[in-house]
Amino acid sequence: MTKKINIFSNHYDISEKVTERLIQEFKLHGYEANENFSPDADYNVVIGGDGTFIKACHDSDFSDIPFIGINTGHLGFYQEVPANNVELMVSRLINKEYQVQDIKLIDCSVFTEENSYNFLSVNEIVLKAKYTNIIHFNMYVNDILLQSFAGDGVIFSTPSGSTAYNLSAGGAMLYQALDGFQITPMAPIRSSLFRSLDKSLVVPSNTQIKLITRKREETFSSLGVDGMLQEFEDINYINITMSDKTIKKLVFDENWYWKNIKEKFI
Ligand code: NAD
Repeated sequence: MTKKINIFSNHYDISEKVTERLIQEFKLHGYEANENFSPDADYNVVIGGDGTFIKACHDSDFSDIPFIGINTGHLGFYQEVPANNVELMVSRLINKEYQVQDIKLIDCSVFTEENSYNFLSVNEIVLKAKYTNIIHFNMYVNDILLQSFAGDGVIFSTPSGSTAYNLSAGGAMLYQALDGFQITPMAPIRSSLFRSLDKSLVVPSNTQIKLITRKREETFSSLGVDGMLQEFEDINYINITMSDKTIKKLVFDENWYWKNIKEKFI
């Protein structure tokens, strides 16, 4: 049976050129690489930037097939392999000279009057105001009312997503293998009227978060799942926790994580 590789690309010129080289190189090693997703492929190769990587995770329905990132984008936090190095990457892939790392995912369920909706996120789930209004909700942690939040919103970020939106909102970088997630407030109000948590909170992965809107007429203004907007009119409550499911990502340099942090954030 032909061995297969799934390719995900952002289709920019540079990505198209890398794709062509990659298809030829894989062919030399007996692999058929193309963009028609096959559930029995050996690897998912993503050519682009972080947005392409995140999109590939969503588009493949969080495929169990290991992902490899080739960077043709700008920052490339998830994209270890430089675009000029694909031949070396293919040979290391064939010789299985890599480590498999888990990218943890956040699970978010939204309950409306009539339906429920489930989302997984690679980076984060964000609840925030649609315009310039304040949002109000009660946040329960394992059924304990921890805070009545008022402010711009809250970010629930995975460890690998902690260097994205979470970091810009003042959160900490979380080592990617840590077994937990981070809750970071956005412009929280602290006054005699509101006592919103004004610092990030890091919680273990089995923590169950429940968010209930405080005023009946008010709905959560907008829900961002890895930067993708989801809108609902009549949310009753939202549950957030760490998913049991993970994305498998191949890493060729065992020190990639720290080199990546140093190069891109320090
Ligand atoms: P985009 O193209 O606007 O990318 C946003 C930036 O975030 C890019 O530079 C990307 O390289 C970087 N990025 C993505 N994931 C990262 C990670 N885990 N660590 C470090 N940097 C990362 O949008 P996109 O490519 O579709 O990415 C969506 C992401 O954008 C969201 O998940 C969110 O984290 C991020 N975002 C950030 C802000 C902010 O920092 N103020 C605001 C909105 C969205």
